[in-house]
Amino acid sequence: MKVSVDRSLCYGSAECAYRAPDVFAFEDGYGVVRPGAAEAAGDPRVREAVREAAERCPALAIALTGAEPEAG
Ligand code: SF4
Repeated sequence: MKVSVDRSLCYGSAECAYRAPDVFAFEDGYGVVRPGAAEAAGDPRVREAVREAAERCPALAIALTGAEPEAG
């Protein structure tokens, strides 16, 4: 799964870093994807947190690509 934050949309609510701190950090007023976070997102719990962060980002600035289909 590839995770990215569109900085032109992000307004710095920091919710992504709060929900999925393994993958997102809050830097210079923006949510950023931590280096190496693609590997961290291989963990199912982390992946779930990332998905939730993306869904709940108030700016819809988080894009997930290559994610597996939802189970069930
Ligand atoms: S949740 Fe969205 S708006 Fe808030 S810091 Fe993260 S990317 Fe930016």
